[in-house]
Amino acid sequence: MISKLTLILYELNKEDMSNKPEHHPETLTAQALGWVDPTTRSIVPPIYPSASYERAPDGTYPGGHSYTRDQNPTYDQVELLLSRLEGGEAALLFSSGMAATTTVFETLDHGDHVIAPEDMYWTTQRWLEELARRGRISLELVPNGNMEALEGLLRPGRTKIVWVETPANPTCSVTSISETASAAHRAGARLVVDSTLSTPVLCRPIEHGADLVVHSATKQLNGHADVLAGALITARRDKMWERLTHDRGYRGAVLGPFEAWLLMRGIRTLFLRVHRSAETAMKVAEWLNANSEVREVFYPGLRSHPGHAIAASQMSHGFGMLVSFRLWGGAPAARRVAGSLRIFKNATSLGGVESLVEHRAPVEGPTTRVPADLLRLSVGIESVDDLLADLDQAIS
Ligand code: PLP
Repeated sequence: MISKLTLILYELNKEDMSNKPEHHPETLTAQALGWVDPTTRSIVPPIYPSASYERAPDGTYPGGHSYTRDQNPTYDQVELLLSRLEGGEAALLFSSGMAATTTVFETLDHGDHVIAPEDMYWTTQRWLEELARRGRISLELVPNGNMEALEGLLRPGRTKIVWVETPANPTCSVTSISETASAAHRAGARLVVDSTLSTPVLCRPIEHGADLVVHSATKQLNGHADVLAGALITARRDKMWERLTHDRGYRGAVLGPFEAWLLMRGIRTLFLRVHRSAETAMKVAEWLNANSEVREVFYPGLRSHPGHAIAASQMSHGFGMLVSFRLWGGAPAARRVAGSLRIFKNATSLGGVESLVEHRAPVEGPTTRVPADLLRLSVGIESVDDLLADLDQAIS
């Protein structure tokens, strides 16, 4: 819902950048659409912590807000910027990536059919498996990027959501968004793309046919590992979008205004961070690929990666900050290397300015499909020489 305050902001910022196609996304992002505060002309937006808003004597809400579980002015600028960056019609912020994801599945009717990839963020997959065990949905997993298998699983009229995560966390498997969109749409299903690892800097799934884009904004959108947040961006303001907007308020899955403000601050440097970390990640992947202790490297930027051609066709300016690899020494070697790295911090999560390493399989538990010796690197913005020297001392 666009609040009255936002309308005032639009009016005041008639010369802002939100409707100027000639401005590049880098400019829109650095200037947060170029908005200024209507009262003070501050170029950094204020935070609106108020949970409640005053009514007029006639009972209406002249400010356009009633209660912050439904609307908060601090969300408006971030949501408009995200929808512009993704090329969608609208965006919603959530209290986490998982809050955004679970709100999408909450819109399904009992027994609706969902197709999700075999390789994907493990909590989302566990959640889907739990929903299936409880009889809420019918779930089938498809090998990532296998169009023939996908066609075989689609049930026209019954399949409601096809979920894609590309590149996937942590195996970097790649899926063609446009081919999946065509297949899903032929069967009457929606295509939802978790684009956390790409960000709109590297890939805009809506341009390739996605109906809905999901982000864990905790990761590279915010980029500083100090906010938990999620976002949905829709290609169209349709019935499902109305339902998602309604459900966010009813489920209370909203972001706090302080976090929304921090997220806006983080996003302003998105392009610099994403370009730099993707450039460094490419060098890290090439270095690992040339190392005799390393058995396999998973990075879509490498020509040897099975999804390289598709990734190159739907991503631009790089292939992301996530690099995974396996060592000939197996799981014990992976544990030793994760514990010996000094600049890469041994910690979970990804997409921050600092580089991280995680030995992934033990985190995901015994049912994981991730190889027991896989190490996941989240590459930050440090000196590439320091990162390579750190890998060298830990691996050798
Ligand atoms: N999607 C992907 C690809 C992720 O990596 C994560 C978290 O790691 C999520 C979604 C969930 O996001 P959050 O931790 O913000 O709930």
